[in-house]
Amino acid sequence: MEADEFSIKEMYKELRGEYNKVSWKILTCNNQGRPTWIFALYLEIQRKLYTKDRLGNWGIITDVTCYLCSTTPETHQHLFFE
Ligand SMILES: [Zn+2]
Repeated sequence: MEADEFSIKEMYKELRGEYNKVSWKILTCNNQGRPTWIFALYLEIQRKLYTKDRLGNWGIITDVTCYLCSTTPETHQHLFFE
């Protein structure tokens, strides 16, 4: 192919730009789980789930205590890893 020849592929690459691949792509792409689960997983990976500590920071709620254990604030770390 000559250098000045138009290519749809090259134009697409230019328009799309370059982004780094994310390591969690394999968890969400081609996942056979329910769409709501995959969406919740995506939100969790992005740390966008509405945990009580986030809602408290925004002033939406005042009680940020974990609903499950009632001992510590409900944070991302506490809910999924503690
Ligand atoms: Zn708890």
